[in-house]
Amino acid sequence: MGTTAVVLGGGYAGVMAANRLAAAARPGLDVVLVSPGERFVERIRLHEYAAGVRSDATASFESVLHPAIRRVRDTAVRIDAAGRCVRLAGGRLLNYDYLVYAVGSGALKVPEGALTVQQLEGAEDTRTALEALAPGGRVAVVGAGLTAVETAAEIAAHRGDLHVRLHTDGNPLPQVTAAARRGLERSLRRTAVKLQSGVRVSGSGDPHLRLQADVVLWCTGFGVPDLASASGLPVDQEGRLLLDPNLQVPGEERIYGAGDAAVIASPEYAYLRMSCAAAMPMGADAAGNILRGMDGAPGIRHDSGFGGQCVSLGRSDGLVQFVRADDTPVRVHLHGRLAAVQKEIICRMTLRWIRSEIKRSGAYTWPKGLRMTTAEQTQAPAGR
Ligand SMILES: Cc1cc2nc3c(=O)[nH]c(=O)nc-3n(C[C@H](O)[C@H](O)[C@H](O)COP(=O)(O)OP(=O)(O)OC[C@H]3O[C@@H](n4cnc5c(N)ncnc54)[C@H](O)[C@@H]3O)c2cc1C
Repeated sequence: MGTTAVVLGGGYAGVMAANRLAAAARPGLDVVLVSPGERFVERIRLHEYAAGVRSDATASFESVLHPAIRRVRDTAVRIDAAGRCVRLAGGRLLNYDYLVYAVGSGALKVPEGALTVQQLEGAEDTRTALEALAPGGRVAVVGAGLTAVETAAEIAAHRGDLHVRLHTDGNPLPQVTAAARRGLERSLRRTAVKLQSGVRVSGSGDPHLRLQADVVLWCTGFGVPDLASASGLPVDQEGRLLLDPNLQVPGEERIYGAGDAAVIASPEYAYLRMSCAAAMPMGADAAGNILRGMDGAPGIRHDSGFGGQCVSLGRSDGLVQFVRADDTPVRVHLHGRLAAVQKEIICRMTLRWIRSEIKRSGAYTWPKGLRMTTAEQTQAPAGR
């Protein structure tokens, strides 16, 4: 009898996992990818798309998925762990032997009337709203993190005719060093982004009136779908599926998780923030551990780390804050065109990394974190 691995979510984590599984070409292994979208969404480019800089931020699934993967265009609405099946919004029931939960994230607690860039649909609405703005139109971007800063800078650089204001409750990009932030603030001034820092914008009432803006973009963080909690699976306070270091759900050995919608429930992994940079290694390792499980071999502990935080500030400016593997900043940072080029290279590489797994299961490698012991590192990785 064959084995079915179902991957929920066709983003960076899910596609990486599905490719690694399919390219392993295990006899009898059927890989199914469930995702509602028609095309693969390059979420890391959605601010560029929303600002009107790019005409598209998607790729065809055919171009990023191994041809042996069966794609089901639908949304999972319930996981029945005991029955090993997933109910889809279209009414279908999908049985699985192994499940990868990689349903990603979207915008967090968006007030009525505000727009978003965190998912394709929101970015489309934002793009339309910005296109409709006449010169002199006022745009307020709320948030202090990477998405907010990149979005404000991208809009201001592309639409010099608009007034763009960035509202942060504390410093913009609080995670970078003071020197890097000074450079960032200079870049924001150059692109004429007005910085309104130190004031928390409340989510109640009409944000347009409060912020005196024609378009309000809410970029205060990512929230995850409630599929795991609705299915009775263990979740953290934010609704992320809880995993052990092998990326398995404790007590549910056939369910693995990867990407923004899942979290390793151990303080030593707290540095793994929601990001494409974390989602792809998690997807790859979840798949690798499924292949090991099929061989009767023990899984390996996930190990990934960061190298830098790459921030685009329009097309010709940027900031790269180099970090230790645990994402803490070091003194070295890059500014200007070189940083913008570096960011663009990383964006292009994400698709290349995903596609590399079509050709060879295990082709994608990534920077390791600080957490692995030597003994763990020497475990033979199967399926790579
Ligand atoms: C503007 C912007 C810029 C960014 N820049 C960077 C960057 O420079 N570097 C970086 O590391 N990260 C960046 N990120 C973050 C990064 O995009 C996310 O962390 C990453 O997309 C997470 O990957 P994922 O596979 O977990 O989820 P996603 O990419 O969100 O994919 C999740 C998939 O699951 C599908 N799905 C959702 N619900 C269901 C369901 N119930 N059933 C089936 N499928 C479902 C979705 O349709 C989607 O296809 C950026 C994000 C934004 C918005």
